[in-house]
Amino acid sequence: MSDIIQQYRIEKEPYYRPVSDEVELYEAAYSVRMPMMLKGPTGCGKTRFVEHMAWKLGKPLITVACNEDMTASDLVGRFLLDAQGTRWQDGPLALGARFGAIVYLDEVVEARQDTTVVIHPLTDNRRVLPLEKKGELVHAHPDFQLVISYNPGYQSLMKDLKQSTKQRFGGLDFNYPDHAIETEIVAHETGVNAEVAGKLVSIAERARNLKGHGLDEGISTRMLIYAGSLIATGVDPVKACRVALVRPITDDPDMRDALDAAVTTFF
Ligand code: ADP
Repeated sequence: MSDIIQQYRIEKEPYYRPVSDEVELYEAAYSVRMPMMLKGPTGCGKTRFVEHMAWKLGKPLITVACNEDMTASDLVGRFLLDAQGTRWQDGPLALGARFGAIVYLDEVVEARQDTTVVIHPLTDNRRVLPLEKKGELVHAHPDFQLVISYNPGYQSLMKDLKQSTKQRFGGLDFNYPDHAIETEIVAHETGVNAEVAGKLVSIAERARNLKGHGLDEGISTRMLIYAGSLIATGVDPVKACRVALVRPITDDPDMRDALDAAVTTFF
C-alpha cells in the first residue's frame, strides 16, 4: 500500500461510547460495502463514530470537510505544475478509492450538487471513479467505502441532497445521547466528575428544548466537552458555561439571559 495512505491509518482506539446498535449495524453495512449516511445534529458524535469504526475495521480514514466553494476537482484530483512539469495529484476520493480507505465527506449538503454527483459512480455496483482530466477510470479497491454526514436540521430547498444521491446510501440516525450516557461521555472526555458532567448535560437539555423557539440548534455534546475542559482547568463553572455553552449559540440578549439563568440553576 502506498505510503501516502499510511498517514490516514488510526493507530490508537478513538473513544466511542455506543448509544444503540450503531456499531453492529455499521459493521454489517461495511461488510457489504454499503455507502453510509450518518444523520444528526452537529457535535453529537458522528465524526467520532466513523473514526472509531475505521480503527475497529483497521482501515485508513480520509475525512473531507465539505463547503460550497468545493469543486469536483477538490474531491477527484487535478494536475499540478511543478519544476518537473505537470503532475497529477489524486484528490481524497481518488486516493481513498485507489488504496481502499473509508472516505468521510463531512456535511456533504454544503457542497454544490454538481460537486456531489461525482460520487455517484462510486456508490453503485460499478464502484468506479472516472478521472476525466487524466483519462483514467479508477476501479475502487475492495476495502473502499464512502460515508457522508448530513444534518437534516440545516436542510432547505436550496440546500438538500438530491433524491438520486440520497438513495445511494444506507442511513444511521444520530442524536444527543440520553442523560446517563452523555454524562459518561463528558466525564470521560474532560476529566470532570460525574456530578459536574451531569449538571452540564442538564443545562444542555434545557437549551435543546428551546430549539425552534428562538434557538436554531441546541447545545451539542461537543460544546459540553468544551465547557467541561475549561472547568477541569480550574475555570469557575458559571463562567465556563457562559463562554462555552451560551455565547456561541445566541446573539439575542433575551435568549442569552434565559440560558445564563439556566446555568445558575445548576451551578
Ligand atoms: P459531529 O461529527 O456529529 O459533529 P463529533 O463526532 O465531532 O460530532 O462529536 C463531538 C465530540 O463529542 C467528540 O469529539 C467526542 O468528544 C464527543 N462525543 C459525542 N458522542 C460521543 C460518543 N457516543 N462517544 C464518545 N464521544 C462522543
